[in-house]
Amino acid sequence: MEYDIVIIGAGVSGIFAAHELAGTGQSILMIDKGKKLEERNCPLDRGQSCGCDACDKYVGFGGLGLSEGKYNYTNDFGGYLERKVGYRRALQLMDEVDHLLCRYGGSQAEVYYTGDPDLVERAKKAGFDVLTTKTRHLGTELSRHVLQGMYNYLENRMDWRLETEVLKIYNRKNGGFRLVTSHCEIIETDKLIIATGRSGKEWFSRQCHFLGLKPGESRVDLGLRIEMRGNQLDSLLNRTFEIKLRFEGNDYSATTYCMNPHGRVVFKHQEGLTMPDGQNYREQKESSKNLNFSLFIPSYFSSLEEADRYLREVVGGINRGIGRIAVQRLGDLRTGSVVYGPDQTSAIVPTLEADFADLRREVPELYIRATLEFLEALETLLGEPIDGDTLLYAIDGKLYSPGVETNERFETCIRHLYVIGDCSGTTHSLSQAAASGLYVGRALGRSGNSRN
Ligand SMILES: Cc1cc2nc3c(=O)[nH]c(=O)nc-3n(C[C@H](O)[C@H](O)[C@H](O)COP(=O)(O)OP(=O)(O)OC[C@H]3O[C@@H](n4cnc5c(N)ncnc54)[C@H](O)[C@@H]3O)c2cc1C
Repeated sequence: MEYDIVIIGAGVSGIFAAHELAGTGQSILMIDKGKKLEERNCPLDRGQSCGCDACDKYVGFGGLGLSEGKYNYTNDFGGYLERKVGYRRALQLMDEVDHLLCRYGGSQAEVYYTGDPDLVERAKKAGFDVLTTKTRHLGTELSRHVLQGMYNYLENRMDWRLETEVLKIYNRKNGGFRLVTSHCEIIETDKLIIATGRSGKEWFSRQCHFLGLKPGESRVDLGLRIEMRGNQLDSLLNRTFEIKLRFEGNDYSATTYCMNPHGRVVFKHQEGLTMPDGQNYREQKESSKNLNFSLFIPSYFSSLEEADRYLREVVGGINRGIGRIAVQRLGDLRTGSVVYGPDQTSAIVPTLEADFADLRREVPELYIRATLEFLEALETLLGEPIDGDTLLYAIDGKLYSPGVETNERFETCIRHLYVIGDCSGTTHSLSQAAASGLYVGRALGRSGNSRN
Protein backbone atom coordinates (compact mmCIF):
# COMPACT_ATOMS: atom_id res chain seq x y z
CA MET A 1 0.00 0.00 0.00
CA GLU A 2 1.40 3.46 -0.92
CA TYR A 3 0.48 6.68 0.90
CA ASP A 4 1.29 10.37 0.44
CA ILE A 5 1.96 10.75 4.16
CA VAL A 6 2.33 8.28 7.02
CA ILE A 7 2.30 9.46 10.63
CA ILE A 8 3.86 7.11 13.18
CA GLY A 9 2.47 7.87 16.66
CA ALA A 10 -1.04 9.01 17.59
CA GLY A 11 -0.08 11.17 20.58
CA VAL A 12 -1.07 14.85 20.56
CA SER A 13 1.67 15.80 18.08
CA GLY A 14 0.55 13.12 15.59
CA ILE A 15 -3.14 13.90 16.14
CA PHE A 16 -2.76 17.65 15.59
CA ALA A 17 -0.70 17.00 12.43
CA ALA A 18 -3.39 14.57 11.22
CA HIS A 19 -6.13 17.10 11.97
CA GLU A 20 -4.42 19.64 9.69
CA LEU A 21 -3.91 17.05 6.95
CA ALA A 22 -7.41 15.56 7.01
CA GLY A 23 -9.39 16.82 4.06
CA THR A 24 -6.38 18.05 2.04
CA GLY A 25 -6.96 15.32 -0.53
CA GLN A 26 -3.78 13.48 0.32
CA SER A 27 -3.78 9.82 1.32
CA ILE A 28 -2.85 9.63 4.99
CA LEU A 29 -2.14 6.67 7.25
CA MET A 30 -1.86 6.89 11.03
CA ILE A 31 -0.01 4.07 12.83
CA ASP A 32 0.18 3.56 16.60
CA LYS A 33 1.34 0.58 18.63
CA GLY A 34 -1.38 1.19 21.23
CA LYS A 35 -5.14 0.80 21.21
CA LYS A 36 -8.13 2.94 20.32
CA LEU A 37 -8.98 5.49 23.00
CA GLU A 38 -12.08 3.70 24.28
CA GLU A 39 -10.07 0.49 24.69
CA ARG A 40 -7.26 2.09 26.70
CA ASN A 41 -7.86 0.86 30.22
CA CYS A 42 -4.86 0.09 32.45
CA PRO A 43 -5.54 -1.90 35.68
CA LEU A 44 -3.24 0.61 37.47
CA ASP A 45 -6.07 3.17 37.22
CA ARG A 46 -8.20 0.80 39.31
CA GLY A 47 -5.45 0.32 41.89
CA GLN A 48 -4.44 -3.09 40.45
CA SER A 49 -1.08 -4.01 38.98
CA CYS A 50 -0.38 -3.29 35.34
CA GLY A 51 -0.60 -6.28 33.04
CA CYS A 52 -0.62 -4.35 29.76
CA ASP A 53 1.75 -5.46 26.97
CA ALA A 54 2.23 -1.87 25.82
CA CYS A 55 0.86 0.10 28.79
CA ASP A 56 -2.56 1.63 28.05
CA LYS A 57 -1.69 4.56 30.32
CA TYR A 58 1.00 5.79 27.94
CA VAL A 59 0.41 4.41 24.46
CA GLY A 60 -2.49 4.32 22.05
CA PHE A 61 -4.68 7.04 20.54
CA GLY A 62 -3.97 10.22 22.54
CA GLY A 63 -0.56 8.98 23.74
CA LEU A 64 0.43 10.77 26.94
CA GLY A 65 -2.27 13.35 26.23
CA LEU A 66 -4.53 11.17 28.41
CA SER A 67 -2.55 12.05 31.52
CA GLU A 68 -3.19 15.27 33.48
CA GLY A 69 -4.12 17.19 30.34
CA LYS A 70 -2.56 20.42 31.55
CA TYR A 71 -1.92 22.59 28.49
CA ASN A 72 0.60 25.35 29.35
CA TYR A 73 0.69 28.02 26.66
CA THR A 74 4.13 29.50 27.22
CA ASN A 75 7.66 29.72 25.87
CA ASP A 76 9.05 29.85 29.44
CA PHE A 77 9.08 26.05 29.78
CA GLY A 78 7.81 22.88 28.11
CA GLY A 79 10.26 22.90 25.20
CA TYR A 80 12.09 25.02 22.68
CA LEU A 81 9.46 25.52 19.97
CA GLU A 82 10.31 29.23 19.82
CA ARG A 83 13.85 28.36 18.66
CA LYS A 84 12.34 26.75 15.55
CA VAL A 85 9.47 29.05 14.68
CA GLY A 86 10.15 32.26 16.63
CA TYR A 87 8.72 33.58 19.90
CA ARG A 88 5.46 35.07 18.60
CA ARG A 89 4.71 32.30 16.12
CA ALA A 90 5.15 29.70 18.86
CA LEU A 91 2.59 31.48 21.08
CA GLN A 92 0.25 31.89 18.10
CA LEU A 93 0.47 28.17 17.33
CA MET A 94 -0.29 27.32 20.97
CA ASP A 95 -3.33 29.65 20.79
CA GLU A 96 -4.51 27.66 17.78
CA VAL A 97 -4.02 24.43 19.72
CA ASP A 98 -6.26 25.89 22.42
CA HIS A 99 -8.95 26.85 19.88
CA LEU A 100 -9.01 23.29 18.61
CA LEU A 101 -9.24 21.84 22.12
CA CYS A 102 -12.19 24.17 22.78
CA ARG A 103 -13.85 23.13 19.54
CA TYR A 104 -13.94 19.59 20.94
CA GLY A 105 -15.21 20.59 24.40
CA GLY A 106 -12.03 21.78 26.18
CA SER A 107 -13.63 25.12 27.09
CA GLN A 108 -15.39 23.36 29.99
CA ALA A 109 -12.07 23.89 31.83
CA GLU A 110 -11.32 27.57 32.53
CA VAL A 111 -8.06 29.17 31.43
CA TYR A 112 -5.94 30.74 34.17
CA TYR A 113 -2.76 32.84 34.16
CA THR A 114 0.18 32.50 36.53
CA GLY A 115 1.74 35.91 35.78
CA ASP A 116 1.86 38.42 38.66
CA PRO A 117 4.31 41.36 38.17
CA ASP A 118 4.55 42.14 41.94
CA LEU A 119 5.44 38.55 42.67
CA VAL A 120 8.01 38.42 39.85
CA GLU A 121 9.75 41.43 41.44
CA ARG A 122 9.65 40.01 45.01
CA ALA A 123 10.85 36.60 43.80
CA LYS A 124 13.80 38.13 41.95
CA LYS A 125 15.02 39.71 45.19
CA ALA A 126 14.99 36.27 46.87
CA GLY A 127 16.95 34.72 43.96
CA PHE A 128 14.10 33.20 41.90
CA ASP A 129 12.87 33.58 38.35
CA VAL A 130 9.12 33.13 38.03
CA LEU A 131 8.15 31.17 34.91
CA THR A 132 4.72 32.26 33.75
CA THR A 133 2.06 30.62 31.64
CA LYS A 134 -1.51 30.68 30.48
CA THR A 135 -2.97 27.27 31.36
CA ARG A 136 -5.98 25.19 30.42
CA HIS A 137 -6.04 22.19 32.74
CA LEU A 138 -8.41 19.61 31.28
CA GLY A 139 -7.80 16.75 33.73
CA THR A 140 -7.97 13.12 32.61
CA GLU A 141 -11.72 12.85 32.03
CA LEU A 142 -12.08 15.99 29.92
CA SER A 143 -8.89 15.10 28.01
CA ARG A 144 -10.48 11.78 27.12
CA HIS A 145 -13.65 13.54 25.93
CA VAL A 146 -11.72 16.04 23.77
CA LEU A 147 -9.48 13.36 22.26
CA GLN A 148 -12.50 11.16 21.51
CA GLY A 149 -14.07 14.10 19.63
CA MET A 150 -10.90 14.49 17.58
CA TYR A 151 -10.83 10.76 16.85
CA ASN A 152 -14.46 10.83 15.67
CA TYR A 153 -13.54 13.65 13.27
CA LEU A 154 -10.44 11.88 11.94
CA GLU A 155 -11.73 8.31 11.87
CA ASN A 156 -13.09 8.25 8.31
CA ARG A 157 -10.75 10.85 6.89
CA MET A 158 -7.66 8.65 6.86
CA ASP A 159 -6.50 5.05 7.17
CA TRP A 160 -5.52 3.56 10.53
CA ARG A 161 -3.30 0.83 11.87
CA LEU A 162 -3.71 0.71 15.64
CA GLU A 163 -2.07 -1.97 17.81
CA THR A 164 0.58 -1.96 15.10
CA GLU A 165 4.20 -1.19 15.81
CA VAL A 166 6.49 0.10 13.12
CA LEU A 167 9.56 -2.07 13.43
CA LYS A 168 11.83 -0.63 10.79
CA ILE A 169 12.07 2.37 8.45
CA TYR A 170 13.94 2.04 5.15
CA ASN A 171 14.96 5.10 3.17
CA ARG A 172 14.07 4.25 -0.49
CA LYS A 173 16.76 4.93 -3.07
CA ASN A 174 14.50 7.09 -5.24
CA GLY A 175 12.90 9.00 -2.38
CA GLY A 176 10.22 8.12 0.13
CA PHE A 177 10.16 5.38 2.72
CA ARG A 178 9.31 1.72 3.23
CA LEU A 179 7.99 0.68 6.65
CA VAL A 180 7.82 -2.80 8.10
CA THR A 181 5.21 -3.32 10.81
CA SER A 182 4.74 -5.83 13.61
CA HIS A 183 2.04 -7.48 11.45
CA CYS A 184 4.67 -8.06 8.71
CA GLU A 185 2.95 -5.50 6.50
CA ILE A 186 5.08 -3.41 4.14
CA ILE A 187 3.88 0.18 3.78
CA GLU A 188 5.28 2.68 1.29
CA THR A 189 5.03 6.45 1.65
CA ASP A 190 6.34 9.63 0.05
CA LYS A 191 6.57 11.57 3.29
CA LEU A 192 6.98 10.33 6.81
CA ILE A 193 6.19 12.08 10.09
CA ILE A 194 7.66 10.44 13.18
CA ALA A 195 5.73 11.39 16.33
CA THR A 196 6.63 8.54 18.66
CA GLY A 197 7.12 10.55 21.88
CA ARG A 198 9.04 9.29 24.87
CA SER A 199 7.57 5.79 24.82
CA GLY A 200 9.25 5.23 21.45
CA LYS A 201 12.62 6.68 22.43
CA GLU A 202 14.72 3.47 22.36
CA TRP A 203 13.11 2.46 19.07
CA PHE A 204 13.64 5.95 17.63
CA SER A 205 17.25 5.95 18.77
CA ARG A 206 17.81 2.67 16.87
CA GLN A 207 16.13 4.05 13.73
CA CYS A 208 18.31 7.17 13.87
CA HIS A 209 21.37 4.96 14.02
CA PHE A 210 20.13 2.82 11.11
CA LEU A 211 19.16 5.83 8.96
CA GLY A 212 22.39 7.68 9.75
CA LEU A 213 20.72 10.48 11.77
CA LYS A 214 22.74 11.82 14.68
CA PRO A 215 20.82 11.76 18.00
CA GLY A 216 21.11 14.81 20.28
CA GLU A 217 22.01 15.06 23.96
CA SER A 218 19.91 13.09 26.48
CA ARG A 219 18.44 14.81 29.50
CA VAL A 220 17.24 13.41 32.82
CA ASP A 221 15.45 15.56 35.42
CA LEU A 222 15.49 14.24 38.97
CA GLY A 223 14.35 15.77 42.23
CA LEU A 224 12.49 15.33 45.49
CA ARG A 225 8.70 15.72 45.56
CA ILE A 226 7.89 18.14 48.33
CA GLU A 227 4.61 17.95 50.26
CA MET A 228 3.81 21.06 52.28
CA ARG A 229 1.14 22.45 54.53
CA GLY A 230 -1.66 23.55 52.19
CA ASN A 231 -1.40 27.19 53.26
CA GLN A 232 2.41 27.42 53.28
CA LEU A 233 2.55 29.20 49.91
CA ASP A 234 -0.58 31.32 50.39
CA SER A 235 1.32 34.61 50.10
CA LEU A 236 2.52 33.53 46.63
CA LEU A 237 -0.68 31.89 45.44
CA ASN A 238 -3.20 34.57 46.34
CA ARG A 239 -3.51 35.63 42.70
CA THR A 240 -2.64 32.45 40.88
CA PHE A 241 -3.57 28.80 41.20
CA GLU A 242 0.05 27.66 41.07
CA ILE A 243 3.52 29.06 40.63
CA LYS A 244 6.62 27.86 38.78
CA LEU A 245 9.95 29.02 40.24
CA ARG A 246 13.48 28.58 38.94
CA PHE A 247 16.44 28.80 41.32
CA GLU A 248 20.04 28.91 40.11
CA GLY A 249 22.59 27.32 42.47
CA ASN A 250 26.36 27.28 41.98
CA ASP A 251 26.36 24.08 39.94
CA TYR A 252 22.67 23.41 39.20
CA SER A 253 19.42 24.93 38.05
CA ALA A 254 16.33 23.81 40.02
CA THR A 255 12.77 24.31 38.76
CA THR A 256 9.49 23.50 40.45
CA TYR A 257 7.39 21.06 38.45
CA CYS A 258 3.77 19.95 38.59
CA MET A 259 2.45 21.90 41.60
CA ASN A 260 -0.75 20.53 43.10
CA PRO A 261 -2.51 22.75 45.64
CA HIS A 262 -4.98 20.59 47.65
CA GLY A 263 -3.45 17.63 45.79
CA ARG A 264 -2.11 14.24 46.76
CA VAL A 265 1.19 12.50 46.16
CA VAL A 266 0.57 9.33 44.17
CA PHE A 267 2.68 6.55 42.68
CA LYS A 268 3.94 6.97 39.13
CA HIS A 269 5.11 3.84 37.30
CA GLN A 270 7.42 4.58 34.40
CA GLU A 271 10.37 2.92 32.70
CA GLY A 272 9.80 -0.03 35.07
CA LEU A 273 10.47 2.29 38.03
CA THR A 274 8.24 3.75 40.76
CA MET A 275 8.32 7.44 41.55
CA PRO A 276 6.24 9.91 43.58
CA ASP A 277 3.95 11.99 41.36
CA GLY A 278 1.40 14.69 42.09
CA GLN A 279 -2.32 14.35 41.51
CA ASN A 280 -4.42 17.42 41.14
CA TYR A 281 -7.47 17.97 43.35
CA ARG A 282 -9.66 17.89 40.22
CA GLU A 283 -8.78 14.22 39.81
CA GLN A 284 -9.65 13.22 43.39
CA LYS A 285 -12.84 12.49 45.24
CA GLU A 286 -11.72 14.66 48.18
CA SER A 287 -9.22 17.50 48.19
CA SER A 288 -6.27 17.21 50.58
CA LYS A 289 -4.99 19.76 53.13
CA ASN A 290 -1.54 19.65 51.53
CA LEU A 291 0.21 21.08 48.50
CA ASN A 292 2.90 19.23 46.56
CA PHE A 293 5.39 19.79 43.75
CA SER A 294 8.68 18.32 42.51
CA LEU A 295 11.95 20.23 42.41
CA PHE A 296 13.66 19.09 39.24
CA ILE A 297 17.35 19.43 38.44
CA PRO A 298 18.37 18.49 34.89
CA SER A 299 21.49 16.46 34.04
CA TYR A 300 22.74 15.92 30.49
CA PHE A 301 24.33 12.81 28.95
CA SER A 302 25.91 12.06 25.60
CA SER A 303 23.65 9.07 24.94
CA LEU A 304 20.19 7.80 25.86
CA GLU A 305 21.75 4.65 27.34
CA GLU A 306 23.90 6.69 29.75
CA ALA A 307 20.93 8.83 30.78
CA ASP A 308 18.79 5.75 31.30
CA ARG A 309 21.51 4.06 33.37
CA TYR A 310 21.72 7.09 35.67
CA LEU A 311 17.92 7.20 36.14
CA ARG A 312 17.87 3.47 36.95
CA GLU A 313 20.79 3.72 39.37
CA VAL A 314 19.20 6.52 41.39
CA VAL A 315 15.50 5.61 41.29
CA GLY A 316 16.07 1.84 41.13
CA GLY A 317 18.33 2.04 44.21
CA ILE A 318 15.48 3.57 46.22
CA ASN A 319 12.84 1.22 44.74
CA ARG A 320 14.87 -1.89 45.80
CA GLY A 321 12.88 -3.94 43.31
CA ILE A 322 9.65 -3.58 45.32
CA GLY A 323 8.48 -0.14 44.14
CA ARG A 324 9.65 1.47 47.40
CA ILE A 325 9.57 5.26 47.83
CA ALA A 326 11.55 6.90 50.64
CA VAL A 327 10.36 9.96 52.57
CA GLN A 328 11.77 12.21 55.28
CA ARG A 329 10.59 15.21 57.30
CA LEU A 330 12.40 18.42 56.37
CA GLY A 331 13.18 19.04 60.07
CA ASP A 332 14.95 15.68 60.31
CA LEU A 333 16.86 16.17 57.06
CA ARG A 334 18.04 19.59 58.23
CA THR A 335 19.29 18.39 61.61
CA GLY A 336 20.52 15.03 60.37
CA SER A 337 18.94 13.53 63.50
CA VAL A 338 16.72 10.51 64.06
CA VAL A 339 14.18 9.86 61.33
CA TYR A 340 10.59 10.18 62.52
CA GLY A 341 7.34 9.08 60.90
CA PRO A 342 4.26 11.29 61.33
CA ASP A 343 2.50 11.27 64.69
CA GLN A 344 -0.57 12.93 66.24
CA THR A 345 1.25 16.26 66.47
CA SER A 346 2.39 16.37 62.81
CA ALA A 347 1.15 19.41 60.92
CA ILE A 348 1.36 17.49 57.64
CA VAL A 349 -0.13 14.04 57.19
CA PRO A 350 1.46 12.23 54.22
CA THR A 351 -0.93 11.49 51.36
CA LEU A 352 1.27 8.66 50.07
CA GLU A 353 2.39 5.64 52.05
CA ALA A 354 6.18 5.69 51.82
CA ASP A 355 9.14 4.39 53.81
CA PHE A 356 10.53 6.90 56.35
CA ALA A 357 14.30 6.97 55.85
CA ASP A 358 17.43 9.12 55.96
CA LEU A 359 17.46 10.65 52.47
CA ARG A 360 21.17 11.47 52.69
CA ARG A 361 21.76 7.72 52.44
CA GLU A 362 19.33 7.30 49.54
CA VAL A 363 19.78 10.24 47.19
CA PRO A 364 22.86 11.81 45.52
CA GLU A 365 24.12 14.81 47.50
CA LEU A 366 23.25 17.30 44.71
CA TYR A 367 19.49 16.79 45.12
CA ILE A 368 19.64 17.17 48.92
CA ARG A 369 21.78 20.32 48.73
CA ALA A 370 19.66 21.88 45.97
CA THR A 371 16.43 21.18 47.89
CA LEU A 372 17.77 22.68 51.11
CA GLU A 373 19.14 25.78 49.35
CA PHE A 374 15.90 26.20 47.40
CA LEU A 375 13.79 25.94 50.57
CA GLU A 376 16.05 28.42 52.38
CA ALA A 377 15.59 30.96 49.58
CA LEU A 378 11.85 30.20 49.64
CA GLU A 379 11.76 31.11 53.33
CA THR A 380 13.25 34.50 52.42
CA LEU A 381 10.60 34.99 49.74
CA LEU A 382 7.76 33.92 52.06
CA GLY A 383 9.13 35.84 55.04
CA GLU A 384 8.38 32.84 57.27
CA PRO A 385 9.96 29.47 58.07
CA ILE A 386 8.91 26.36 56.19
CA ASP A 387 7.26 23.83 58.47
CA GLY A 388 9.69 21.18 59.75
CA ASP A 389 6.95 18.59 59.11
CA THR A 390 7.21 19.26 55.35
CA LEU A 391 7.71 15.90 53.63
CA LEU A 392 10.37 15.12 51.03
CA TYR A 393 9.72 12.06 48.86
CA ALA A 394 12.54 10.40 46.88
CA ILE A 395 12.65 10.62 44.01
CA ASP A 396 10.68 11.93 41.05
CA GLY A 397 12.24 11.74 37.60
CA LYS A 398 11.70 12.48 33.95
CA LEU A 399 13.74 11.06 31.05
CA TYR A 400 13.65 13.11 27.86
CA SER A 401 13.94 11.87 24.33
CA PRO A 402 17.35 12.83 22.91
CA GLY A 403 15.79 14.04 19.70
CA VAL A 404 17.56 14.57 16.43
CA GLU A 405 18.76 17.52 14.38
CA THR A 406 15.98 19.05 12.24
CA ASN A 407 15.63 22.32 10.34
CA GLU A 408 13.04 25.03 11.09
CA ARG A 409 10.40 22.89 9.30
CA PHE A 410 11.13 19.89 11.60
CA GLU A 411 12.62 18.09 8.59
CA THR A 412 15.73 15.93 9.14
CA CYS A 413 18.67 15.85 6.77
CA ILE A 414 16.74 13.06 4.98
CA ARG A 415 14.31 14.77 2.62
CA HIS A 416 10.62 14.39 3.56
CA LEU A 417 11.40 12.80 6.91
CA TYR A 418 9.87 14.94 9.67
CA VAL A 419 10.17 14.48 13.44
CA ILE A 420 7.65 16.23 15.71
CA GLY A 421 6.57 16.26 19.36
CA ASP A 422 8.71 14.94 22.19
CA CYS A 423 10.78 12.56 20.08
CA SER A 424 12.11 15.61 18.21
CA GLY A 425 13.80 16.77 21.43
CA THR A 426 12.23 20.19 20.75
CA THR A 427 9.07 19.79 22.87
CA HIS A 428 8.43 18.43 26.38
CA SER A 429 4.82 19.40 26.87
CA LEU A 430 1.34 18.84 25.50
CA SER A 431 0.90 22.36 24.15
CA GLN A 432 4.25 22.50 22.36
CA ALA A 433 4.01 18.91 21.09
CA ALA A 434 0.52 19.64 19.70
CA ALA A 435 1.73 22.95 18.22
CA SER A 436 4.64 21.23 16.45
CA GLY A 437 2.14 18.79 14.89
CA LEU A 438 -0.17 21.57 13.83
CA TYR A 439 2.76 23.47 12.28
CA VAL A 440 4.15 20.55 10.27
CA GLY A 441 0.69 19.22 9.33
CA ARG A 442 -0.28 22.63 7.99
CA ALA A 443 2.94 23.00 5.98
CA LEU A 444 2.52 19.54 4.43
CA GLY A 445 -1.19 20.17 3.86
CA ARG A 446 -0.32 23.31 1.88
CA SER A 447 2.19 21.49 -0.26
CA GLY A 448 -0.66 19.09 -1.11
CA ASN A 449 0.11 16.31 -3.49
CA SER A 450 3.09 18.11 -5.00
CA ARG A 451 6.19 15.94 -4.71
CA ASN A 452 8.52 18.95 -4.26
C1 LIG B 1 2.88 11.03 33.59
C2 LIG B 1 3.02 12.21 32.66
C3 LIG B 1 2.20 13.31 32.83
C4 LIG B 1 2.32 14.42 31.99
N1 LIG B 1 1.52 15.49 32.19
C5 LIG B 1 1.65 16.57 31.40
C6 LIG B 1 0.82 17.69 31.56
O1 LIG B 1 -0.10 17.71 32.38
N2 LIG B 1 1.03 18.79 30.78
C7 LIG B 1 2.02 18.81 29.83
O2 LIG B 1 2.17 19.83 29.14
N3 LIG B 1 2.79 17.74 29.62
C8 LIG B 1 2.64 16.63 30.39
N4 LIG B 1 3.46 15.56 30.17
C9 LIG B 1 4.30 15.56 28.96
C10 LIG B 1 3.36 15.38 27.74
O3 LIG B 1 2.43 14.37 28.02
C11 LIG B 1 4.14 15.09 26.48
O4 LIG B 1 5.04 16.16 26.28
C12 LIG B 1 3.25 14.96 25.22
O5 LIG B 1 2.16 14.12 25.46
C13 LIG B 1 4.09 14.45 24.06
O6 LIG B 1 3.25 14.15 22.96
P1 LIG B 1 3.81 13.33 21.73
O7 LIG B 1 2.74 13.33 20.71
O8 LIG B 1 5.14 13.85 21.34
O9 LIG B 1 4.09 11.84 22.27
P2 LIG B 1 3.19 10.76 23.02
O10 LIG B 1 1.99 11.37 23.62
O11 LIG B 1 4.11 10.01 23.90
O12 LIG B 1 2.69 9.79 21.84
C14 LIG B 1 3.56 8.94 21.15
C15 LIG B 1 2.76 7.81 20.53
O13 LIG B 1 3.65 7.09 19.65
C16 LIG B 1 3.33 5.71 19.72
N5 LIG B 1 4.54 4.94 19.30
C17 LIG B 1 5.77 4.98 19.85
N6 LIG B 1 6.63 4.18 19.15
C18 LIG B 1 5.89 3.62 18.16
C19 LIG B 1 6.20 2.70 17.10
N7 LIG B 1 7.43 2.21 16.90
N8 LIG B 1 5.20 2.32 16.25
C20 LIG B 1 3.94 2.81 16.42
N9 LIG B 1 3.61 3.69 17.41
C21 LIG B 1 4.55 4.08 18.25
C22 LIG B 1 2.94 5.47 21.17
O14 LIG B 1 2.07 4.37 21.24
C23 LIG B 1 2.24 6.79 21.54
O15 LIG B 1 0.83 6.70 21.45
C24 LIG B 1 3.31 14.42 30.97
C25 LIG B 1 4.12 13.31 30.79
C26 LIG B 1 3.99 12.21 31.62
C27 LIG B 1 4.89 11.03 31.41
